Amino acid sequence: MLVVMEHGAPNADVDRVVSVIEEMGYQARPMPGAQRTAIGLVGNDGRVDASRIAALPGVAQIIHVTQPYKQVSREWRSENTVVTIAPGVAFGDVDVPIIGGPCSVESEQQILASARIVRESGGTALRGGAFKPRSSPYSFQGLGKKGLELLALARRETGLAIVTEAMDDEGAHLVAEVADCIQIGARNMQNYSLLKSVGKIRKPVLLKRGMAATITDFLLSAEYILAEGNDRVILCERGVRSFDPAARNMLDLTAIPIVHRLSHLPIIADPSHGTGLRDKVTPMARAALAAGADGLLIEMHPDPDRALSDGAQSLYPAEFRSLVEELRAVALAIGRRVTPPDAADNGRARDTIDSGTARVRAGSY
Ligand code: PEP
Ligand code: MN
Repeated sequence: MLVVMEHGAPNADVDRVVSVIEEMGYQARPMPGAQRTAIGLVGNDGRVDASRIAALPGVAQIIHVTQPYKQVSREWRSENTVVTIAPGVAFGDVDVPIIGGPCSVESEQQILASARIVRESGGTALRGGAFKPRSSPYSFQGLGKKGLELLALARRETGLAIVTEAMDDEGAHLVAEVADCIQIGARNMQNYSLLKSVGKIRKPVLLKRGMAATITDFLLSAEYILAEGNDRVILCERGVRSFDPAARNMLDLTAIPIVHRLSHLPIIADPSHGTGLRDKVTPMARAALAAGADGLLIEMHPDPDRALSDGAQSLYPAEFRSLVEELRAVALAIGRRVTPPDAADNGRARDTIDSGTARVRAGSY
């Protein structure tokens, strides 16, 4: 349930609503907004008797959240949530950051070369798994802690934000020491103890859609993280299993406008795992951006033919470079902008945009 306060309601009225909610045995989450403050009520199993709250001074409206996920829903928060993972790298605003890099961190030379290519091509975040969830226990499992150290080195050298995966609670704490954003992979989307763990860590989280997850399942998984008090969640569409073996997965681009309507959280697209095939990555990346993706995650390897994981879907450096170039043009055509690398250094990105473009995007849902 959501209690919307009148425009300009004094703090004392807000505090009163919070204490009444707490007296009733629930938790209150005040959310000051641009226009007015809303107070979310959590901890209820069913419908709450709102009459006591509705009668309090300053209360304008009571909204019963109809979706099974609450804090993730647009009913709960009508404005877009912008998740900033590092200075100048924000998801959910007009600018669209590009996350690039190899599937796995393999060596110092490989990750530093990747980082330089991402940076020079116009990406603003580096991806690369140190802990790898592989379908086979005999496949390369990642360098672990050593991989995290190499990612930290790559950030020191290039200034790129770091996005890397955690597979369990212990790994999440290790990843949190280095990463700007903790990735939860498709195979762990419904690992609820891991979701609770990253909810408590309070670092931005990139939550990938499970291979067989409905959009409701996906948003309920995000709700686990928000329910622990961490609302810095970026969703990622990475394709679902289909009946057709022509591609590794079926990239569900319809999920982007659906999620934008149902939730205030940003959603990005991963056409690399979404297709599994290098030559399909560029066309689907263009399409994802055109469909409203708030960012892109692209696998790129300095030498894909020798990659220890996902080489077949990793772009060659030159392909990555031209993709970013093309994405700049697509973004411009829909009133957005690929986050420029210099913005990641000095946080200027948002000041240099005509505020009109933000309206174009808001109206496009
Ligand atoms: C990855 O990003 O390398 C990865 C393992 O992705 P997913 O969890 O979507 O399969
Ligand atoms: Mn991969």
